[in-house]
Amino acid sequence: MKILILGGTEEARELAGRLVAMGHEVVTSLAGRTSEPLMPAGKVRIGGFGGAEALGTFLRREKFDRVLDATHPYAVQMHTNAVLGAEMANLRLVRFLRQPWQEPPDVSWVQFTSDETAAETLPQDAHVFLTVGQKQLATYLERRDCRFLVRSIEPLERPLPGHATHIVGRPPFYPGGEAELMERFGITHLVTKNSGGVQTEAKLQAAQQRGIEVYMILRPELAPAYEVHTVGQAIAALRLAIAA
Ligand code: NAP
Repeated sequence: MKILILGGTEEARELAGRLVAMGHEVVTSLAGRTSEPLMPAGKVRIGGFGGAEALGTFLRREKFDRVLDATHPYAVQMHTNAVLGAEMANLRLVRFLRQPWQEPPDVSWVQFTSDETAAETLPQDAHVFLTVGQKQLATYLERRDCRFLVRSIEPLERPLPGHATHIVGRPPFYPGGEAELMERFGITHLVTKNSGGVQTEAKLQAAQQRGIEVYMILRPELAPAYEVHTVGQAIAALRLAIAA
């Protein structure tokens, strides 16, 4: 089978390795946001397609048999394009989404459906550890009565104002290091997406240990698609699709 994997996640890379080892022809597509990304097995193409219709045309022209959307749970536009593009090319789409983190029984996260509401809710003088990605930064930085520690995988596109400090960091992160960082910056609030997975989970453990309030930005609603939550399920779903 010729399979297009929409990637940008650790599991997309793992799926590429497994599918190549099974003898499939695999092309992974990356958005191109990360410099020096870890390369998956098989072929790789980098950069946007130019929208859903262009993705549909690409899938047809390149004669793909299946499309596996393994982009990040918060990559809403790409998830939408995957549904429309696969429909146009008359291909079965499998969407891999890793399981979200669960609130521990003895801790309450404050949950938000938007960054705007989370930013508005922060109390005055909060010291905030922001791990929400570059697109959402401006919303929080409007709160000049708070201080921010911003961590991103890539250097920032523009310098931060005086009430924010930036650090670059690539996962995996570990509880000890996360707790030390939170202590050093006097963090009172952690703002995070519910990305799930083990690579960035340590910040939640460290926050819990230090009694830091967690603001969780809930996952966005996505267009309906055949959804799986483990790498094994994704492979099984693609195999089922062969017989379909
Ligand atoms: P997005 O807002 O959903 O997508 C914006 C545009 O980027 C898409 O319309 C598409 O351009 C292009 N794009 C996104 N993923 C692509 C892929 N795998 N291959 C080719 N083009 C892609 O996505 P995003 O939130 O900016 O995320 C970009 C990438 O970073 C994704 O691949 C995602 O898996 C990864 N990532 C995102 C997050 C996050 O929090 N959002 C976290 C970790 C990793 P065209 O319309 O031109 O095709």
